[in-house]
Amino acid sequence: MIELKNVTKIYPGQSVPAVKELTLTIQDGETCVFVGPSGCGKSTILRMINRMIEPTSGTILVDKEDILNKDPDKLRMSIGYVIQQIGLLPHRTVAENVAIVPRLYGWSKEKISKRVDELLELVGLDPEESKFKYPAQLSGGQMQRVGVARAMAADPPIMLMDEPFGAVDPIVRGHLQDEFLRLQKEIKKTVCFVTHDINEAIKMGDTIAIFDIGTLIQHGTPQEILSNP
Ligand code: ADP
Ligand code: ADP
Repeated sequence: MIELKNVTKIYPGQSVPAVKELTLTIQDGETCVFVGPSGCGKSTILRMINRMIEPTSGTILVDKEDILNKDPDKLRMSIGYVIQQIGLLPHRTVAENVAIVPRLYGWSKEKISKRVDELLELVGLDPEESKFKYPAQLSGGQMQRVGVARAMAADPPIMLMDEPFGAVDPIVRGHLQDEFLRLQKEIKKTVCFVTHDINEAIKMGDTIAIFDIGTLIQHGTPQEILSNP
């Protein structure tokens, strides 16, 4: 469970808060979609949850514990983070990219190799065909899939996904959305999913949080949002 309590973020030198007095709870196994125009603070919230940046005020709890009391490295290893510019390491193969976090955990070679195959299959890639390729040899959609596989490698309970399918064309995006929904039914991660596309939010979210310049203006299930526009 992720709980944000009265969280405000004002970047140095800025007068307007990027996030303003945000209180929001995301339950275990829930996909909460953050939606709103560019610059309204969505990415800032994700960066605070995995402690890339600190809130100016307020508290963030993960599983009832203030994240400031957690070891930052352990916290980040329990969180899968997927961004639009997926940032695969260019001189590492697909398999090596996916294995980054399991290596940090010190898993055996056999365990890592088995997990890599399993993950690539999970995200809809043929392991034999893809694992020895380099990122430059992949299409945009394939890179996104590898990014998702990498984020899920050590089975983190939390996934932060910042416009994960934003860089691919609409047809591929539709496939990736469908696959993630199918996957999420089985794996039940706690997911914060950022998009500026309300249709994607309605499709992907158990709940939707709508933001406008740093302020949460609506929060509810897709049905609630649609019936109360
Ligand atoms: P979104 O993800 O909704 O597009 P962001 O969280 O990226 O929004 O940005 C929210 C606001 O904070 C924007 O006005 C943005 O310009 C500002 N901002 C983001 N990152 C920084 C930063 N590192 N320094 C200063 N301002 C920032
Ligand atoms: P997004 O909307 O996907 O978060 P942005 O283009 O807003 O992407 O931000 C990209 C990067 O630039 C982020 O690392 C963010 O922190 C930084 N950034 C965004 N706005 C500002 C700003 N006004 N001043 C300084 N850095 C910023």
